[in-house]
Amino acid sequence: NMKKTITRFAPSPTGYIHIGNVRSAIYPYLIARQNHGTFILRIEDTDQARYVEGATELIEDTLNWLGLEWDEGPIVGGPNAPYFQTERKAHYLEWAKKLILAGRAYIDPTPSDQIDQYRAADQANKVPYLYRNHRPTTATKTPAENLAMLDLGHPIRFKTIPKDYQWHDEVMGDLKTGPEVCDDIILIKKDGLPTYNFAHIIDDTEMGVTHIARGVEYLSSMPNYLALYEALNIDRPLFLSLPHILAPTGNKKLGKRDGAKSVTEYRDDGILPEAMLNYLACLGWNDGTEQEIYDKDELISAFSIDRIQNSGARFDEVKIYWYNGQWIRKIATEQGTEALYARTADFWPTSANSEPDEYKIQVLSIIYDRLKTLSDLKTMTDYFFVDPIINLDLIKDNKFLKKLSESELISLLTLTIERLNDVSDWSEQNLQNELNELLQKSGKKPAEFFSLIRLAVSFAPFSPALHQTLSVLGQNRVLARLNAVRTALANS
Ligand code: GLU
Repeated sequence: NMKKTITRFAPSPTGYIHIGNVRSAIYPYLIARQNHGTFILRIEDTDQARYVEGATELIEDTLNWLGLEWDEGPIVGGPNAPYFQTERKAHYLEWAKKLILAGRAYIDPTPSDQIDQYRAADQANKVPYLYRNHRPTTATKTPAENLAMLDLGHPIRFKTIPKDYQWHDEVMGDLKTGPEVCDDIILIKKDGLPTYNFAHIIDDTEMGVTHIARGVEYLSSMPNYLALYEALNIDRPLFLSLPHILAPTGNKKLGKRDGAKSVTEYRDDGILPEAMLNYLACLGWNDGTEQEIYDKDELISAFSIDRIQNSGARFDEVKIYWYNGQWIRKIATEQGTEALYARTADFWPTSANSEPDEYKIQVLSIIYDRLKTLSDLKTMTDYFFVDPIINLDLIKDNKFLKKLSESELISLLTLTIERLNDVSDWSEQNLQNELNELLQKSGKKPAEFFSLIRLAVSFAPFSPALHQTLSVLGQNRVLARLNAVRTALANS
């Protein structure tokens, strides 16, 4: 079968893109790219009540950020335009008319309070609520009579023929259901817009979609979808039901309240798109090896549908940050610190604003391997740009330094200042030698001597290796800070 692979991501523009939504974009994207096929972005905006202004742009930004470019859809257009369902009303009506003509759909004039009564009565009688048990008389009228009622503002319903269904789900395996789940679902609502149930089938058919990858929550509606494929005489595509992403604890689906931020919040927090793509692709899929780090091209070649897990994968934020740390190091070592620096513009402390790029690149080059997220730069690098506030308690209460007397601290600083004052080669390497010699002379333990110097120049809980920190800070800054601390100690 040489049919071109066509997949799609079909989000509803409801304003918040969570982790699970995005994973439903990644798998179809990978399938399309792997098979040199087409990846479509389609905006399912038929639910006017849930529509949020700007949500489509948010979806586009998120896909662009992750590098999931679409071949057809908003902005880029394509042979199946338009890609907004609200602009495709004529298509749905045409297909609904075919069903009416075939005697498989009817206009339903039943008022909604009447429908509420049916539901309540079934509940009271403890029988499953199925609309097909409450068909209006229009369901038995001729196609011509139904077509004549098209403009009256009533919904159009499918006229089901209850039966067994069997089908294969690429993730869940062979499935079957009985006639009890087949119902007269609404195809087009009274506002003229289609339901998801109907619209996605029409769009997927017209757009030639070969693989439908979507959340497992749609599985229970499959019999009604299969009935529609049958009644419309169209071939079924392949179905991939993607298991839920589970909350960090418990056995429930990940929701807004479980601490998972929206994708944009992770971006704003300094998560790299490569890391997010890598994490999400591997959340519920693995290639059977120990490999954990994949770039996009590696994912495209390694991905396979039959290794998508059929049970829910647990969301783990710690793992996102782990992947991000790996990716920060990978970019710095493979592409260079400057390539990493190009990604950091939004993440420096304000104290760095007027600093030259070269200096910030130096800072980045000695600190990147400690970053879990780019916004760690905000909290971890301030002392490179402004003199830290002297807080002698940090020295006096330090676990290595609290045994030393004030005069010992002062003479250690004096020793260091005198020596560093004479250093003419301020390179990392030379500073490493100087520090080692100073350590010898001081007669102190490494933890004591190095902790004092580190605190005196940074007053930060940790810093990169001391010789690197001093080298980047520069001789003037280092000597000024050591002097200021010595003075403060002497005056305390
Ligand atoms: N519009 C649906 C959603 O946002 C898409 C389901 C599908 O991919 O068919 O959940």
